[in-house]
Amino acid sequence: MARHPLDIHPHGSYLVRMDDLVTRISHCRLCADRFAATATRHAPRPVPWFGPGARLLIAGQAPGARVHASGIPFDDASGDRLRDWLGLDRAAFYDRSRVAVVPMAFCFPGYDARGVDLPPPAICRETWHDAVMAELEPIALRVLVGAHAQRYHLGSRGSVAQTVADWRAHAPGTFALPHPSWRNTGWLKKNPWFEAEVIPALRARVKEVLQDD
Ligand code: SF4
Repeated sequence: MARHPLDIHPHGSYLVRMDDLVTRISHCRLCADRFAATATRHAPRPVPWFGPGARLLIAGQAPGARVHASGIPFDDASGDRLRDWLGLDRAAFYDRSRVAVVPMAFCFPGYDARGVDLPPPAICRETWHDAVMAELEPIALRVLVGAHAQRYHLGSRGSVAQTVADWRAHAPGTFALPHPSWRNTGWLKKNPWFEAEVIPALRARVKEVLQDD
């Protein structure tokens, strides 16, 4: 459906353009107290990475500590694995006019007591996501990385493994992936069908979508 270049603020009070939306997210400090209470006591550093015309959406969970430091999404080993899965080099992946990276929270949430990243704060989705997605539509291909993105975009309530195994139900417009973190290397080894079947189909679809630009 064709969109007007302007869209509604998440709270419906005024019209903004996409670049204004990026600017407002960049200045968001809603989670300042929450992050100050974590072990890292960090300040919010939103990483909104999208622009007009993107055809491919990467919907992830939340930036990690390294991305918090660099301000560049998937600027880590997980990003290297994700780019390999997509068949994209860094130049293509970071072209905001073609690829939008929209995690379920735009800031690093900190670590839990086990040293694992905390889940994305729900307030980020509640405040920003519908507005961002309205700006980005129409998207030709959604790549959903992890449970939180799969819940938002697919309404899935099952495990990531179940949703990924059911990938043909969503392709070719949407691919659900496990997180490309090293923590999932064991899962990848136990499920060779993922790299044998899902990845070739994903790469072919990415190529098709970006060639149509
Ligand atoms: S996580 Fe989202 S809501 Fe929280 S401060 Fe960052 S941009 Fe704002």
